Order: sequence, then structure tokens, then C-alpha cells
Amino acid sequence: MRVLVTGGAGFLGSHLCESLIQQGHAVICLDNLLTGRVENISTLLGHPKFSFVHYNVCDYLHVDGDLDGVLHFASPASPQDYLEYPIATLKVGALGTHKALGLAIAKGARFLLASTSEVYGDPMVNPQPETYWGNVNPVSPRGVYDEAKRFAEALTTAYHRFHGLDTRIVRIFNTFGPRMRPNDGRVVSNFIVQALKGEALTVYGEGTQTRSFCYVDDLVAGILALLQAQPEAPTRDTQFHTDVRMAKIAANPESIHAPTNIGNPQELTVLDIAQMVIKLTDSSSTITKQPLPIDDPKVRRPNIDKAKTLLTWEPKVTLEQGLEKTIAYFRSEFNLVK
Ligand code: UDP
Repeated sequence: MRVLVTGGAGFLGSHLCESLIQQGHAVICLDNLLTGRVENISTLLGHPKFSFVHYNVCDYLHVDGDLDGVLHFASPASPQDYLEYPIATLKVGALGTHKALGLAIAKGARFLLASTSEVYGDPMVNPQPETYWGNVNPVSPRGVYDEAKRFAEALTTAYHRFHGLDTRIVRIFNTFGPRMRPNDGRVVSNFIVQALKGEALTVYGEGTQTRSFCYVDDLVAGILALLQAQPEAPTRDTQFHTDVRMAKIAANPESIHAPTNIGNPQELTVLDIAQMVIKLTDSSSTITKQPLPIDDPKVRRPNIDKAKTLLTWEPKVTLEQGLEKTIAYFRSEFNLVK
């Protein structure tokens, strides 16, 4: 395959580019470096099948030659980042998704959207299956990300229904691993950096809110399985009756074209994570409480039954193993020695 990865110099995008190259595919990585970093792709830059284009996916998009896949991963993705870049976040989810879909149509390429567990907002159902519609405050500070991704899902699905584009939507739950920015504000990177520096770990609120963390290698394996799964053969109905096709897709959350959760269902509190990081870094850091951000979800845990059945995928790396690798990365990359 020859694929375009938007946001390819970001945390997830760069791991995805790396795995695609390892599988023998050709990769064009597009990134405006707003929150992405060239360092993330430094080991790929000399590779004959890899190229990097410094570009904003919201602008007119042209790529020479054939493309088999368009993977839209560009977006600020930590609460701190989308608070800092609210309009860029809305634009890349809306205009950027539109451009990326248009390119996929023009090239006859398969399209994969990086969506998010944030589409479930502050969920009233736990764990969250794909059939849950969510509880999102559109005018909350984090609404810029949630609504941009919800719009991106709607647009992607409309392109599938109306144009027959082969689309995939992955709802990514909290992910961690090497190449997170030390200052991107996410809980795992914050806690590791604080523990290694001997600073107090900043727990927001009482730390009773929960999250479920997936190691990046597991996540990328799930995304590639979703990308590479065979499309469903169109039925007679779907070829000839758009109305029937629309009804069917809306009614079938098990379709490969409907959103698929990818994440690790092991759920723990933020306080649990703080204690685990302190233990694994052998740190003398204490814990300090800070105010809870507005509309911070109280619980989050993926139901991954669909991915298990459809993709025969499930996470393999334990939280402890993943944290060990991530701690080692932060130690070596940033000369944090504790
Ligand atoms: N959090 C925290 N301390 C930090 C950073 C985050 O207690 O230094 C909390 C945050 O309030 C949330 C959880 O950790 O409840 C996960 O936050 P993150 O920003 O990683 O991602 P989110 O799941 O909120 O998108």
C-alpha cells in the first residue's frame, strides 16, 4: 500500500508511520507540526519509502501518484493542547477531515478516521459500547475537541453512505507510551516527569475519576487490523437503494464502517495511577491535589467486544509493562535520572 498519514509526526501518528513502514508499505507523512515534532519521525526520515510534508491538512490537499489509504490523525489531542488551540482543533476536525475525505475519493483510497472516546463525553454508561451516543457539553472548553470529532464521524459516515467510500472510524481511548511530549499535560506523561524530577504529582480533583490506559503498540496493532480488515461486500440493496443502504448502516453498529472502540479495558482511578508511577519510578515524590478541569469525565472504560470479534484484536501489554517502557523513554530522552 501507499498511504498518507495526516498528523504523522504526532505521538500516535509517528508510531503508526513506523509500523506501516515495518510492514513494507510506502508512507507519506503530513504534519503542520503544531503539536507534532520532527524528532518523532527522525528514524524514518532517510527511509526510501517514507516522505515528510510540512503542511496543514485544512488547506487545499494534493498528493502526486496513487494512494491506497488516507489515515486522518491530525489534531491537537491532549486537553491542554485543545484548550490552547481551540479553533485549530475545530478546523482540523471539520475542514481537515473534509479535505482528507476528498483526497480519498479522488484517489479511490480507503479512509480511516482517528476518533476518540471523548465522543462519549462524561458518560452515563460504563463501560462505553459503540452504541452509546454520549453525554457531551458542546460549549465546554473541551467541547471543541469532542464536537470536532463527532462532526468528523458524521462527515466520514456521510461519505461512506453517499459516495460509497470505504471508511473506518477508530474511537481511541487513553493511550500512552514513548514520544508523548513531556509537557502535553496528559496524566501519564505529567506523572512520570514529576516523579522522575522528584516533584509532587498533581492529582486533579480527588483523583477518584477513572481512566483505562492502552499501551501505544497495542493501539497501533488494533488500528492496523481495522484498516486492513476486508470491506463488506455490497449487497443488492446497498447497490441500488440508497435509502435502504442508509437504514442498514445506521442500524448496524457491527459493520466495519461503523465506529470501533480500541483501548484497554483495565480501568483504574487517577490516584491509582499516581501511586503506580511513584512505585515504578522508585520516587520520593508526594501527591498534591489541584482543581478538577471543567467537565472532566468521571469514568471512562472501553467495551471492546466489537474489536475482539471483528478484528480478533485485544491488548497484550499490561499497564505495568507499558509504564516501565514509557518511564525508560522519559529517563533516556530527557536525562531525567531518578
Ligand atoms: N489528570 C490529573 N493530573 C494531571 C493530568 C491529568 O489528575 O497532571 C487527570 C485529569 O483530570 C483526568 C485524567 O487525569 O481526570 C486523565 O487526563 P488526561 O489529560 O490524560 O486525558 P483525558 O482522559 O482527560 O482526556
